[in-house]
Amino acid sequence: MNPRYLLVGPRAGHRCEYCRAPEKLFNSPHEVDHIIPFGKGGQDDALNWAALSCRWCNLHKRDHDNGIDPVTGDSAALFHPRRQRWDDHFRASTETWCVEGLTLTGRATIDRLRMNALPQRHARRQWARLEAWP
Ligand SMILES: [Zn+2]
Repeated sequence: MNPRYLLVGPRAGHRCEYCRAPEKLFNSPHEVDHIIPFGKGGQDDALNWAALSCRWCNLHKRDHDNGIDPVTGDSAALFHPRRQRWDDHFRASTETWCVEGLTLTGRATIDRLRMNALPQRHARRQWARLEAWP
């Protein structure tokens, strides 16, 4: 386990800081993500730069720091959990089981991380039945 998990996990309330997947319903801990990848100038500073990420979001984020807003076609920096508030950029729908983007940043992040792929939406429906999402 990443040694920074002991700080990052509780700080995030043990939920993915991108899609809000509840860690308690997984069979392994969520991952510690470097919000700004090393290759893009990110620092190895857990206090300021690390975020808790589910495997799905981390796999799709990889070393990206930006994405494309499918509505406008514009490029945007991905959501930064230490500098931005989730509620300012996203909204959770319990009708569609999607995370909806409220801003260019939100939509670009959803698209890059494929947050609304079918497996994600199916999982959210089950999590909601257990009152673990959103
Ligand atoms: Zn996630």
